[in-house]
Amino acid sequence: MALLDIKFYGDPVLRKETHSVKEFDSELNRFAEDLIETMRINVGVGLAAPQVDDLRSLIVIDVSSEEDEENFEPLVLVNPDIIELSGNCVIEEGCLSIPEVRVEVERPEEIRVIYQDVKGNKKDLKCSGILARVIQHEVDHLRGRLMIDYLSSVKRDLLKSKLQKISRGEIPVGV
Ligand SMILES: [Zn+2]
Repeated sequence: MALLDIKFYGDPVLRKETHSVKEFDSELNRFAEDLIETMRINVGVGLAAPQVDDLRSLIVIDVSSEEDEENFEPLVLVNPDIIELSGNCVIEEGCLSIPEVRVEVERPEEIRVIYQDVKGNKKDLKCSGILARVIQHEVDHLRGRLMIDYLSSVKRDLLKSKLQKISRGEIPVGV
């Protein structure tokens, strides 16, 4: 397994649209495993391919560190598409590409997502809570969208200097 380099806020790759995966081969499997390893080493709950400079539609999720989710196995979602949304709730989010920034974001509480696993099998998942939250955050990355896009301009202004530092490459130590 290999650790992948995480791209930070300001890198244009984080604003690009991904393309769907058509080849479900051993290279895809290895890439998914590398993403999971990179997410774990960086203590993240999710990671999307564009965050490591790859424009395939693929995300990995691991919410096993969260309450009541100890038995959770890492999920690989290829070509995910959220087809139903309901309710809404405010939860604080972080992002491995925007270190040391946490923001409250309002999003739907329950979702239904269709996707393929790493072998290409079609899956259909309904979920809520932290899992639904992380999936929505990561699927946004596949569309070039970041959690700070949800903030009011006033709140974003408060983060301006932090964000500028990150985009200049002044990444906080220890993240
Ligand atoms: Zn993120």
